[in-house]
Amino acid sequence: MTKKRILTGDRPTGSLHLGHYVGSIQNRVKLQNEGNEVFTIISDFQYLTDRLETKDVERNTLELLLDYLACGINPDTSPIFIQSKVPALAELFVYLSMLVPVSRAQQNPTVKEEVRATAKGKMSLGMLSFPVSQAADILAFDTDLVPVGEDQLPHIEQTREVARAFNRVYGETFKEPEALLSKVPRLMGLDANQKMSKSRGNAVFLSDSKDTVVKKIKTAVTDSGKEIMYDKENKPALANLLMMYHLFSGKEIKAVETMYEGKGYAEFKADLAEVVNAFLEPIRRAREEFAKDEAYLSLVLKQGTARASEESEKTMKRVRKAMRYDYPHIFH
Ligand code: ATP
Ligand code: MG
Repeated sequence: MTKKRILTGDRPTGSLHLGHYVGSIQNRVKLQNEGNEVFTIISDFQYLTDRLETKDVERNTLELLLDYLACGINPDTSPIFIQSKVPALAELFVYLSMLVPVSRAQQNPTVKEEVRATAKGKMSLGMLSFPVSQAADILAFDTDLVPVGEDQLPHIEQTREVARAFNRVYGETFKEPEALLSKVPRLMGLDANQKMSKSRGNAVFLSDSKDTVVKKIKTAVTDSGKEIMYDKENKPALANLLMMYHLFSGKEIKAVETMYEGKGYAEFKADLAEVVNAFLEPIRRAREEFAKDEAYLSLVLKQGTARASEESEKTMKRVRKAMRYDYPHIFH
């Protein structure tokens, strides 16, 4: 297998949750362990799309870093970096944004959904254009594959479009990346009516304590009725909890249904909390270990950011040359 370039990341809006794990992190670690180059971006520009208050960004960045390391991202081979510390990404965003009609940007369904869910209906220019900023991140690294959750598909489509538009205008420069969806591209939240999200108060975080997990699952929304059965149509909340049980215990959903025949929601939920806690325990322990060494954590980010700058600069040389923005005669 030829080595692939992977780029993916998360907004520093909080720490990672179970949806991230099954939607993206699991694939990242697998791809890394198969020998591919996995770049992880902490998207602090994107942080600002639906909020301006920044007091938690640094702490959240640290939390993300701890989550990555605890889940098995190896920073020696897989750089972890901060978006705003790689200025080439902002430069590329400017160039790419000229290729995108505003009417096209306004069609992106995930942007509309985020505006509704977290930006209280207000759309800033930054919110409208963040898929193009994300396209810059992806294209700057000559990315082959982007392991993401379902909400990201419209952004990857926009990335491919803008790559084609650039290639048409300035000559073949970018390859078109592909999204890699996991088996569970959209884990629903504990409120059962939208995706699990860092910012919507409906998540089980990888860093949650045992007690918190028990409490959250106990109060998770369920459907009417008593029977423990997987029926996505009529019992979507329970179906999501059963899916979690399956994912974190490895037991088939049918087997779980059989186990809980004649039993109630309360018992099922208490057991689900145990299953989730057993899965999270090693992650919690690893997090605690990594958290002890601040100097190491800072080094990981510094080295990851240096490597990201170096790699994206290679692409940027090509981009500037294609655009004649290398000014070969008057700026050398
Ligand atoms: P926020 O609510 O602050 O935007 P988030 O939970 O949506 O946070 P992001 O940082 O926006 O997390 O997304 C990081 C990655 O995780 C993306 O690839 C996204 O598709 C994926 N992801 C997020 N939530 C889920 C989910 N519930 N199920 C599967 N994948 C998810
Ligand atoms: Mg999000």
